[in-house]
Amino acid sequence: MSDAVSKVTAGHLRREAYLYVRQSTLYQVANNTESTRRQYDLRGRAIALGWPAEHVVTIDVDQGQSGASAADREGFQHLVAEVSLGKAGIVLGLECSRLARNNADWHRLLQICAFNNTLILDEDGLYDPCNFNDRLLLGLKGTMSEAELYLIRARLRGGILAKAQRGELALPLPAGLVYDACGQVTLDPDAGVRRALQHLFGTFTATGSARAVVKAFHAENLSFPMHHQSGPHAGELYWTTLTHDRVLKVLHNPRYAGAYCYGRSRHYQDADGRYHTAARPRDQWITLIPGAHPGYISFDQYETNLAVLAANAAAHGEDRKAGPAREGPALLQGLVVCGKCGRRMTVRYHTRTDGTAVPDYVCQVTGIAHGTPICQAIPGASIDAAIAGLILDTLTPLALEVALTVTDELAARAAQADQIRAAHVERAQHAADAARRRYLAVDPANRLVADTLEADWNDKLRELADAHDDYNKACHASTSLDDTQRDRIRALAADFPALWNNPATPMRERKRLIRLLLTDATLIKTSDGITVHVRFRGGQNHLLNLPLPLNAWQQRQTPQTTIDLIDQLLDEHTYHQVTEILTQRGITSGEGNTFTAGRLRAHCDRYRIRSHYQRLRDTGLLTLDEIARELGAHSQSIKRWYRLGLITGRLADDRGTCLYHPGQARPTPAQVEDTGRTLGNTHRSGRSYHPSLDGPLPQNVGAPRHTVHATS
Ligand SMILES: [Zn+2]
Repeated sequence: MSDAVSKVTAGHLRREAYLYVRQSTLYQVANNTESTRRQYDLRGRAIALGWPAEHVVTIDVDQGQSGASAADREGFQHLVAEVSLGKAGIVLGLECSRLARNNADWHRLLQICAFNNTLILDEDGLYDPCNFNDRLLLGLKGTMSEAELYLIRARLRGGILAKAQRGELALPLPAGLVYDACGQVTLDPDAGVRRALQHLFGTFTATGSARAVVKAFHAENLSFPMHHQSGPHAGELYWTTLTHDRVLKVLHNPRYAGAYCYGRSRHYQDADGRYHTAARPRDQWITLIPGAHPGYISFDQYETNLAVLAANAAAHGEDRKAGPAREGPALLQGLVVCGKCGRRMTVRYHTRTDGTAVPDYVCQVTGIAHGTPICQAIPGASIDAAIAGLILDTLTPLALEVALTVTDELAARAAQADQIRAAHVERAQHAADAARRRYLAVDPANRLVADTLEADWNDKLRELADAHDDYNKACHASTSLDDTQRDRIRALAADFPALWNNPATPMRERKRLIRLLLTDATLIKTSDGITVHVRFRGGQNHLLNLPLPLNAWQQRQTPQTTIDLIDQLLDEHTYHQVTEILTQRGITSGEGNTFTAGRLRAHCDRYRIRSHYQRLRDTGLLTLDEIARELGAHSQSIKRWYRLGLITGRLADDRGTCLYHPGQARPTPAQVEDTGRTLGNTHRSGRSYHPSLDGPLPQNVGAPRHTVHATS
């Protein structure tokens, strides 16, 4: 102790004594209290060496931290800081080398202690790092401490690997498997847990889709067993909703197929001391022993399930979301973002009856993960058309001319800045020249002055070089467009629509063109319509409001204007006449068919449009029977009089039915005779026809003359 006492000086005693207490693991903190007690006893040693009790500072914030690295050990870093600041006269620790189990940390601490003349004390003795022998001893202790840690680890790791390779290492089991009293793996005795897993595997075998499994659990409102991974409840079972990634984990875990496996993932530490886990391919697993214990499925079934998943993944992989332009006709593939939840939207095609594929933009990631309805699905055809129109409108010659004008203005401003920078270079050159002249003028023997002037000259040369650099950099940055570049840009505006509309341009190339211009498009569908926020590469935004696309039945409806026109025409015309007028004007039904009298009648029935006949009757015109009664004549006489123009009427339908104006005078037989003779309309016998003598006229004689009213 006399040797020890001689190392302690008044200088040491004026500073604080730092006691560093640490236990590697929480287990040690709780159970290895002896070690902690011994560490705190060092406090008594410090007091014995002459430090007042109130000057012994205890640092014990690192309880439960490993000494393998200084990272994350706040207390150790605090200790090093205090020593560096010269506040510590002595550092106390049980087996001092365990202060740091990493040699780099330990030697740094030794060096800092030597610089600041700080002593080190452990149970074996007192060391002065300034003393070579003490320092050598401390260095050896550090090396041995690290070697000890390494050997412990290597022995443990070797034991673990050997046990794992034999399949004897007890590993945490996934929910559904448990260790029995003899340490053998069996299925969980809880029938609820077993049934949940059997239901999962059964549903997957039936549907071949992990998402369908999630949906089935969701639809039946079933929960799924899980184990707490960490924390105070680690290993305990709890029930929660089944998610897509959980289904994938279960399907990928060979333990459910009764196989023992070890080393499916790799754990490593990065430069910051943080731990990471990465999955290994199956051929790099350390152990895989099929048939090691009972399972829920056979190993063959496990392999089949993985093959199904791999095939599913190729069709709907993550990379399809924002992937490169593909052949499909969806113009915005890989560029659409959901305006409701912010996720990327995928493309889904449906085929129309004419064989064309029509895109829909769908946001379904969350829906798939939780078996809930998808976020939104938006018909893409109208959006694609609007975007194409926007692109063509944006790239007009006028717009490019404006852009070129702005470029000119920027170039002019850059030229002004260039002059300012050039002046700065000139000033620096002048200063450097002046410094050089001053240096050359002084007597070289006068070192004091010559050195100062030389340093000054060097400074000025450095400033000059910096100014030159700045000038060159700025010149490179602000290269303005030359005439050929301008011409090419103008030509692009003229060529672009032709290139875009050319049917020979592949869809993939159109999508590449879109990608050169657009960053992305955000879609929101509401009951009022579809809102598209388009972001251009230059940071410009554009908002498009599109109506909701019509349903198939809405698209087939006859437009209201056509219905109104038909209604109007029927005031004066029969169905047949109206169809002739419509055909002449090239008007078709909503389905694209030309109107026939039958179709027109069906339309009128559907839209409750009154027929021409009904309209004429509404104005008070009389039927054949009615006028015959009114004039007291035979119906055939009425027809003949009408033919001869002695009474007036209107054609009411396509069958030739006439309606007659009321209140007309009955023609006298003389009038009938005269008119009949004048028109040469004679009967078979050669004499003129007289209804009262001849009786009814045969039906086919003299079709009624129709008056067709010309329409505008
Ligand atoms: Zn969404």
